[in-house]
Amino acid sequence: MNIKILGGENEIGGNKILIEHKETRIFLDFGMSFKQASKYFSEFLQPRKCASLTDFYEFKLLPRIRGVYRLDYLKHMERRNESRGIDAIFLTHAHADHAQYIHFLRDDIPIYCTKATKIILQTLEETGSNSLSDFITSCDAFTFRENTKGGLSRVTRKDKEYVKERQYNIMEPDKKVRIGSLDIEMVPVDHSLPGACGFIIYSDEGNVVYTGDIRFHGSNQELSKKFIEKAKKSKPKWLLCEGTRINQTEMDSENGVKAKISQIISESKGLVFVEHPIRDTDRVNSIFQATKENKRTFVVNMKLAYLISKLGDLAPFNLEKVKILIPKKSWGLIDKEGIEKCHIEQDYETWEREYIGRDNSITYKELKQNPKKYVVSMSMWELTQLVDIKPEDAIWIKSSCEPFCEEMELDEERKKNWLKHFKIKEYFAHASGHATGPEIREMIKEIKPEILIPIHTEHKELFKDN
Ligand SMILES: [Zn+2]
Ligand SMILES: [Zn+2]
Repeated sequence: MNIKILGGENEIGGNKILIEHKETRIFLDFGMSFKQASKYFSEFLQPRKCASLTDFYEFKLLPRIRGVYRLDYLKHMERRNESRGIDAIFLTHAHADHAQYIHFLRDDIPIYCTKATKIILQTLEETGSNSLSDFITSCDAFTFRENTKGGLSRVTRKDKEYVKERQYNIMEPDKKVRIGSLDIEMVPVDHSLPGACGFIIYSDEGNVVYTGDIRFHGSNQELSKKFIEKAKKSKPKWLLCEGTRINQTEMDSENGVKAKISQIISESKGLVFVEHPIRDTDRVNSIFQATKENKRTFVVNMKLAYLISKLGDLAPFNLEKVKILIPKKSWGLIDKEGIEKCHIEQDYETWEREYIGRDNSITYKELKQNPKKYVVSMSMWELTQLVDIKPEDAIWIKSSCEPFCEEMELDEERKKNWLKHFKIKEYFAHASGHATGPEIREMIKEIKPEILIPIHTEHKELFKDN
């Protein structure tokens, strides 16, 4: 058995783990390294599309391995065709630091993950502005097609025959998947994203346990405890263990976050805005419950509405239970009288249009008229809406992590200027998606692997005692 850490060592995220056993090769996660990417690139200094994989290779954002990458990209780099060298890829969850770079993978590599992970990746592909989001389908890049005038046009996503479905396989708990000489079991865990899981890989040379990202203080904490039980039972030779917060002891609690948000709302005299990770449905539910406790109504944006409807049964509540805020976009026709729906719609993306004119959709006007009735989900990218709402006595609850790079600090600073301008007081209520040092040590002690491999951590040295 060969276990190669091609990303995620000595850093938080960017996990890319290659497992080789006899003739079988699988990947566990194929994420983006924020640390490495932000060292060389920024919003206005991006890897060039024309360079295909070259810019990514240059700065070790992608490992140079054969049989893994998309043929359209390789062809553009004038590389010879290569045959598929990977049997499958297994995703622990849909966070970018674990899944973003599947964009670069060949479309014939089977992808194994949970149902929620696939749904989140699908909403990211459909609603995202990121150009590296060929998650569910891949569209041939650098390809011409013959047009109706007999000339050549560049292929776009509208040319359906050039868009290929990736091969997804939904994993269920307690059901192993056989890939070559390996059996892989998906075990759900608690994390700040629905559908998160770890894996146990069974082989005749010993078993591998991979935690993915894990915590013990969310509303699915029972899952993480069961994960430890299962992992222990497998008597693993290797444990790939995340250590984001190995250097921290402060215990978090999602329940505590809910109680704190509820308390802050109860003392507020105006509109309440909450800034939170939009796909963390555990947090979304905490805010929803806190809102209900205060007899207010939760207002979500269109992206969150889309995610909730796509998640269906896996969502914490039904879309009918909340209001959907339709922002002014482009020409801003939504608040003008006597405009036909078909003209208003042109301001919005196709996927957004189904939310216009619904019984539970509202605009800034309603928030302006009845501020005390609502708690509004809002990110710093939607701040311009404050100009329309002109809130009085409003508050802002930051329910997300602190900035961890310079770019984020600048964004945060700018947000604070907006809040100051509108005299909005800011509060904080957040719990992490990761276990603390003592919890991780306890987990390792329970699972008792022969070999411990720290991953997703900047403090490998703190695992020494284990
Ligand atoms: Zn992660
Ligand atoms: Zn994560």
